[in-house]
Formats: sequence, C-alpha cells, structure tokens
Amino acid sequence: MTQIIDGKLISLQIQDEIAAEVKIIKANGGKTPHLAAVLVGNDGASETYVGAKVKACEKIGFKSTLVKLEAATTEQELLHIIDGLNNDTDIDGYIVQLPLPKHINEHNIVEAIAPQKDVDGFHPQNIGRMALNLPTYLPATPYGIMQLLERYKIDTAGKHCVVIGRSHIVGSPMSILMARNTNPGNCTVTMCHSRTANLKEFTLKADILIVALGKAEFVTADMVKDGVVVVDVGITRVPSTETKSGFKLLGDVKYDEVSAKSSFITPVPGGVGPMTIASLLMNTLKASRREVYK
Ligand code: NAP
Repeated sequence: MTQIIDGKLISLQIQDEIAAEVKIIKANGGKTPHLAAVLVGNDGASETYVGAKVKACEKIGFKSTLVKLEAATTEQELLHIIDGLNNDTDIDGYIVQLPLPKHINEHNIVEAIAPQKDVDGFHPQNIGRMALNLPTYLPATPYGIMQLLERYKIDTAGKHCVVIGRSHIVGSPMSILMARNTNPGNCTVTMCHSRTANLKEFTLKADILIVALGKAEFVTADMVKDGVVVVDVGITRVPSTETKSGFKLLGDVKYDEVSAKSSFITPVPGGVGPMTIASLLMNTLKASRREVYK
C-alpha cells in the first residue's frame, strides 16, 4: 500500500513543537529567538516567501525583523546592512532572500553572512560542516526532506538512493546527506544530472528516488521499480482550467502512475514544499540556543 508523506502535517507538527519550546524559554526568562529576513527589490514570489516566513515566526512566538530594500540597492550597501546584522546581538539568525538583483554578486553576499547566523545554511563553512558531519545549519529543503524521512521512519540504511539534480540548494546537499553515516542516511548514493547517460537504468535501481530537476511530470512509472520511496522536490506552475487561480502546481514526478508503484511518496503540493519554513524555524531555534556555534 502506498503511504503519502504529508509535509503539511509534519511542518505544522514541527511548528507546534517549536512554539511549545518558545513558551518554555519565555517562561524561564530566556531570550526570544529572533529571525531577520532581508528582501531586495519587488519580486512577487520572493515577497510571498518572505511574508510567509515572517508570519510563521509570529505564529510560533519568535521575534522577526523584515529589512526591505529597494531593487537599486548596491552590493556595497547590502554588505553594509549585512555587517550590521552580523553585529546585532539581538538577532540570532537571518536570511537574505534569493535571487538577488543581477547587479549584486550572490556569492559575495552569502560569504559575508556570519556562519553562526546563516540559518539558510548556504555559507561555504556550513556546507563544509555538513559534508564533515559536524553540527551545522542544513539548507532548508534538504533538512525538510531528512525530517520527512525520519518522521515517517523510512528505512534508509544500505538502500540505493538515486538523486536527480545537482543544484547547490537541493540535489547536491541531498546526495551528501543521504550518504553520511547517519539515520536517515547510510545509503549508497547515485547522483544524476542532465549529462547522465541512460538515466532510466539508474532510476530503475533506486530504492529511494529524490527528484529535483524542475521538469513537470518527468519521472514516469516505467522509470521506477515497485516499492520505491519517492521524494518529489519539483514545483512547476502550469496553466489550468481546473483552478480558480488559473494555474496549478506540478511536481517532477507523474504522481498518479508513479504513486501506484511506490511504498512512500511526497505529493506536490503538500509534500516537500511546506517543510521549508519548518526547517528555517528549526535552524533559528538552534541559532538562538547556540547549538551549532557555542
Ligand atoms: P536547478 O538549479 O535548475 O537544478 C536542476 C538540476 O536538474 C541540475 O543539476 C540539472 O543538471 C538537472 N537536470 C535538468 N534536466 C535534467 C534531465 N533531463 N535529466 C537529469 N537531470 C537533469 O533546480 P533546483 O533549484 O535544484 O530545483 C529543482 C526543482 O525543485 C524546481 O522545480 C524547483 O522549483 C524545485 N524546488 C522546490 C523546493 C521546495 O521547497 N519544494 C525548493 C527548491 C527547489 P545540470 O547540473 O547538468 O544542469
């Protein structure tokens, strides 16, 4: 029987757990965890994402600060703001919402964030710590996926995990995490990308298939074996006459036919997506408790 991995439910559970912890911290006279978010420009999707993050902070009792900057902000000005956030002792962690306007070099910005406040987990130091299996802030989407695997008690040790996609924010960290000597983890990992020859040969051997390539309904039933665990990270917005909004979201997996062969599967929407905010909140709580950097 196929079990649907309910990311919405798990995300809400995690937020409730954090809210309960914040209550205890406050009752004991501790410092309220404080997350800041920097938004440069007026990109609609970025505004929505940041708005949702700020709202989630308020809901669970965190303090939040939104730093909204004009699209014309220079790299130098942004670096100056980052310096201020690095030195603000009340702010435990912060994110700079990506993508940034084209005239700003993202790498320079990410590297300027103090690693101990980098709750997005994008700083090279934190990525290095992840690879070395040291305490760190895991990037939001991979952290969310690891939580789903853990909370659904999915057996991963010794399994063959195939990851499609090698982006810095999803595919690459997922392949590292699934290969580490941890639980979840301990898989034999194959990482595939656009230059992989005979992709299907690999996907057919996957016990766990993590798909993050950004092509709607790319993975079909003939590409997977019976009993596979499928984690669908893709989100593609396509026009639709079935919805009020005029569009719907599709994953990278052809859900109906692949779910029929799967033991576990994440739906789109409602699978990996909702976990991103939960991950950010978990990282911020870790930052406020100085769990990663003492
Ligand atoms: P990305 O940076 O565009 O990377 C896509 C990866 O897929 C690349 O490594 C690319 O290979 C590989 N690829 C492309 N076509 C392929 C093919 N035909 N066969 C095999 N591999 C192929 O994308 P991303 O940022 O990782 O995001 C992937 C998807 O996940 C997108 O739909 C995105 O919207 C979604 N996403 C969702 C969440 C969430 O919270 N649910 C978070 C982040 C991203 P090359 O390296 O060779 O180009």
